[in-house]
Amino acid sequence: MAVAKRIVLRFPRRLVERPIIYRLVKDYDLEFNILKASITPEEEGLLVLELKGDQREYDKGINFLIKTGVKIQSLSQDVTRNEERCTNCGACITVCPTGAFALESQTRRVIFDNEKCIACGLCIKACPPRAMEVHF
Ligand code: SF4
Ligand code: SF4
Repeated sequence: MAVAKRIVLRFPRRLVERPIIYRLVKDYDLEFNILKASITPEEEGLLVLELKGDQREYDKGINFLIKTGVKIQSLSQDVTRNEERCTNCGACITVCPTGAFALESQTRRVIFDNEKCIACGLCIKACPPRAMEVHF
């Protein structure tokens, strides 16, 4: 059975230079589409992928990633904002890799667009009053 899933991969610094995605293609016959790639402030590699292939090979590929030390998040995680805690400080605007936050010029409020969120988690650490929350 074929599967296609969108996942977030976080590479520790020691793995950033290694050809891990190439191994997914060569050893597990998976197809990938890179939706987002960046380096976090902690110099971790962050990759959002759509990964397609046979279910068994997909599972083996995911096991390979985990054994190698790559952290995997599913995009099914939901990120929300606790509106009562948000102080509209704007710290999240600069860290978000997908532009899910924007400053509304008239009200000076920071708008959060959950549809653009890829659940990378960067805003959760960056938000001073801990208004951003991740739900599994
Ligand atoms: S960093 Fe937190 S408090 Fe500041 S605007 Fe973003 S969500 Fe609101
Ligand atoms: S988790 Fe936060 S920083 Fe990451 S994409 Fe979603 S809103 Fe942006």
